[in-house]
Amino acid sequence: MDPKNSRFSTQISHLALDIGGTLIKLVYFSPNGDNCEDGSIVVGNGCSVVQGRLCFAKFETRKIDDCLDFIRFNILQHSGVQHTNGTARDKLSVKATGGGAFKFADLFKEKLGIVFDKEDEMHSLVCGVNFLLKTVPREAFTYLDGQKEFVQIDHNDLYPYLLVNIGSGVSMIKVDGDGKYERISGTSLGGGTFLGLGKLLTKCKSFDELLELSHQGNNRVIDMLVGDIYGGTDYSKIGLSSTAIASSFGKAISDGKELEDYQPEDVARSLLRMISNNIGQIAYLNALRFGLKRIFFGGFFIRGLEYTMDTISVAVHFWSRGEAKAMFLRHEGFLGALGAFTSYKDQSHSTELKPHHHTVERAVLKCSDDDSFRHIPVTANVNDGEAIEFRRLETTVATSPRILHRNQVYHSSFVEEEGITKACGCPLLPLKSHIKGPAPVSEQDRTDIVDEAITFFRANVFFTNFPIKSPADKLLIYLTFYINVALKRLEGCRTLAVGTKAIINLGLEDIPVPGETGFPFPGLFSLPSSQEEADLFRNYLKQVREETSGRLLSVAYRANGTPNKWWLAFAKRKFINVVLL
Ligand code: ADP
Repeated sequence: MDPKNSRFSTQISHLALDIGGTLIKLVYFSPNGDNCEDGSIVVGNGCSVVQGRLCFAKFETRKIDDCLDFIRFNILQHSGVQHTNGTARDKLSVKATGGGAFKFADLFKEKLGIVFDKEDEMHSLVCGVNFLLKTVPREAFTYLDGQKEFVQIDHNDLYPYLLVNIGSGVSMIKVDGDGKYERISGTSLGGGTFLGLGKLLTKCKSFDELLELSHQGNNRVIDMLVGDIYGGTDYSKIGLSSTAIASSFGKAISDGKELEDYQPEDVARSLLRMISNNIGQIAYLNALRFGLKRIFFGGFFIRGLEYTMDTISVAVHFWSRGEAKAMFLRHEGFLGALGAFTSYKDQSHSTELKPHHHTVERAVLKCSDDDSFRHIPVTANVNDGEAIEFRRLETTVATSPRILHRNQVYHSSFVEEEGITKACGCPLLPLKSHIKGPAPVSEQDRTDIVDEAITFFRANVFFTNFPIKSPADKLLIYLTFYINVALKRLEGCRTLAVGTKAIINLGLEDIPVPGETGFPFPGLFSLPSSQEEADLFRNYLKQVREETSGRLLSVAYRANGTPNKWWLAFAKRKFINVVLL
C-alpha cells in the first residue's frame, strides 16, 4: 500500500451515521495511532492498545452536501481511500441508521463510494442508550427546579425503562433488556413541529435562533392560565395552581390581536412549553400504562436546554404525582448513531476505514466531570487479539472540521531529491499544471505538492511549529501559508465568480523571494546567489501559487458556485509564524 495511505488509514477506523428527518448525526472513532510519545500505544498481554476518541458531528439533513463534504475532506481523505481527484477507489461499507439510510443510500454511493450497512433505527436507539447507561458514568441526570443531579444507574437494575426519543417526531420505546424492546407509542408533535411552527410563526431562520427567542420570551402573554380563567386564584380542588397552563396559545382567542402584535419571543416560548409539556404528559401516561418508573428522554430536540428539561420534568412529576422521574442523557442527540456505531462489535471488516477488526467493549477507564467537554473514556477490544482503548469519548458537536486536529503535522512525501532542480534551497517539484512556468510537468494521475498542500491544509494550519523533515516541507509550508492568505481574500466572496476575481487580483500582486521585503518566512529558504536564481524561484512560486489558487477555488466553492463553509471557515486561522529548522 502507498505509505502515505497507510499513514492516513490509522486515522479513522469506524464511521456510523444516523440520518434523520432533520439532522444527520455522525459518530466516528479516530485513534491517535501516531501518538506514541505519551505512551498511548501500549503493548501488553499480546494486546496492542491504541488511544483514540469517539468524535461527534451533526449536519442539517437539508444541507446534506455539507455532510458529504465533511466526510469527503475530513474522513475519506484522511483515511487514504480517495484519489486526489476526488473519485472513490473502493466501495466502503459504513453503518447507517435512520430513514435517510434508505433515502440517501444511492447519493452516498454515487458521491463518496460509500455503501450503507443499514441498522434498524429503533434497535440502534436502544443499543445507543444501553451503551451509554452501562458504559458512561454520569451520563443520565434529572433536572428539576434548576437542579441537575446525576443518577447512578445500577446495571443489574436498569430494565425496564421507557425511552422517549424526541427527534423530528417522537418515539416511545419500552426497553426490557439488551435487544428486548417494543415501540409502544409516539407522537407527531415533536422537535419538527416546534421548529416548523416556530419558523412560520416567528420568521426565525434556525433552531438556534428559535431557542434564543424562546429563552427571552414569556409564555404567559399568549398561554391561557388557570388563573386567567379563575380570576387569579388556584383551582385547588383539583390541584391546579393559578399558573398552570389551561390552554396553550389560548389568550390569542380573545386578545383581539394579530400574530404581528405578539413578540416572537413570547410565541417561541409558548410553543416550546406546549410541545415539551405534551411530550412529558404522553410519556408519563405510557410509563403508567406499563408500570415503568424510569423515563429517559433523548433526541436533539432537548439540546440540553434547561427550560425544555424543566418543562418535561415538571410534566412527568405533576402527572405522576412524584412517582416517576424524567431523566436526560448527556449524549441525547447521538443515541441512534452510537447504537449503529456499537454494532460494529461482532463483525470483521476489511475496508480501509476499518483497518483492524474492532469490538467495542463496554468498559470505562475514567471520566472527567467537566460537563462542558464531557470526556468519556471507554475501551474497545479487537477481535484479532489487539485491543483498542478509547481513552476518551468526547462529546464535541463539530462546528468545523477542527475535530480532526492531529498532534503532528503532515509532512510532504516528496523526500527524494535526486534529479530535482533547486532554487533558494527549495526543490522545484513537478506540477500537474498547464500554467506556464519553470516547473517540470507531473503525470496527471500522480499526487503533486499542490495536492498535498490542499489535502493537508486544514490539519496543518493549526500548528505553530512545523518541524521540517525534508526541503519539500519548506514548499509545503509556503503553500499552506499561501492557501491561508488566499482564503482570507475569499472570505466574504459569496459566489465563485466574485471569489475568482479576488484570486485573480491576488495573482497580480508582486511575489517577493527570500531577501526581499514581504517574503513571509525569513530564513526558511536560502538567499538567491544570483539574479537568475531569484527570477527562477519567483517564476516557480508564481506558477505554483496560480496552480494552487485554481484548485483551491474548486474546493472552496461548490459546483453551484456557493461557498463551502468547511473551507472558508479556515480563513480565520493564522498559520505558523515560527519554523523549527
Ligand atoms: P431526526 O433524527 O428526526 O432528525 P433529531 O434527534 O436529530 O431527529 O432531532 C431533530 C430535532 O432537533 C429538530 O426537529 C429540532 O427540533 C431539533 N434541533 C436541535 N438542533 C437543531 C439544529 N441545529 N437544526 C435543526 N434542528 C435542530
